[in-house]
Amino acid sequence: MFADLHLHSRFSDGTFSPEEVVARGHKSGFAALSLTDHDTVEGCARMAAACDAAGIEFITGSELTAEYKDTELHILGYFLDVTNTMLLTELTRFQIVRQNRIREMVARLNELHVPLDAAEVFALADCRSPGRPHVARALVQAGHCANHDEAFQQFLKQGRPAWVPKAKLSALEAIQLIHQAGGLAVMAHPGLNRADGLIPDLVDAGLDGLECFHTKHSNGVTRRYLEMAEKLKLLVTGGSDCHGKSKGKPLIGTVKLDYVHVEKLKQRRAEGAATTNAH
Ligand code: AMP
Ligand code: ZN
Ligand code: FE
Ligand code: FE
Repeated sequence: MFADLHLHSRFSDGTFSPEEVVARGHKSGFAALSLTDHDTVEGCARMAAACDAAGIEFITGSELTAEYKDTELHILGYFLDVTNTMLLTELTRFQIVRQNRIREMVARLNELHVPLDAAEVFALADCRSPGRPHVARALVQAGHCANHDEAFQQFLKQGRPAWVPKAKLSALEAIQLIHQAGGLAVMAHPGLNRADGLIPDLVDAGLDGLECFHTKHSNGVTRRYLEMAEKLKLLVTGGSDCHGKSKGKPLIGTVKLDYVHVEKLKQRRAEGAATTNAH
């Protein structure tokens, strides 16, 4: 039995609806799936219903954009109570940051004589948590860039002229936010961050796990984080980080996390709940 615990849908910058994600996950034979859209849990209800209908176990999730010591980190939250007030309030706050950032990026593009309207980007994104990939798609759609990658290289990558920094949650706050919503906090794709030195502080702050298996981790990188997880007594997770068809072939099915790790997540969560109840 296998799981994919890192998936995006149209509720952030993926191109599939939650139902399409589940249909593809079902085809790949997954026993469990999580939806981890950026800074939102909006798609979780539909994903849960679709998983239920397909006989797949669903784990609520979100990928929070955070930072620690000037490094951007993505913190995955699993088993979140998606009705938790503090979680929803914070997510709304960061969704507004994202929407304002889209307006700023479009204004920069306009200054560069690239005619684009923020309304076009919002219409295309059609979600509360829009991001740079939506701007990239709008640029391609309007014929200003040949493809998604060119849009990033030319305009949207950090340091390029339409790049706008984003106000972020501190990673320590992200971990607390996830915990108070009943969830487990996992550092996403550590191999892409080159910030291993920050991990001990995050562990002290209550980090529960490391995403050891990820599309962009080589076997060597995966092995390194598996060893680190064992040494630091952290849980192990993994997923494809599928964004649908935005960047070529959908990635769902390419990373298969052994279900034994899902069992361990559930065990840790039950222990956490027991500790909380004891207080
Ligand atoms: P945002 O959250 O708005 O900063 O957008 C981040 C998303 O943009 C990531 O999840 C990636 O999918 C995508 N992305 C970031 N950098 C690049 C890049 N250099 N080329 C293509 N896509 C990128
Ligand atoms: Zn994304
Ligand atoms: Fe990420
Ligand atoms: Fe992701």
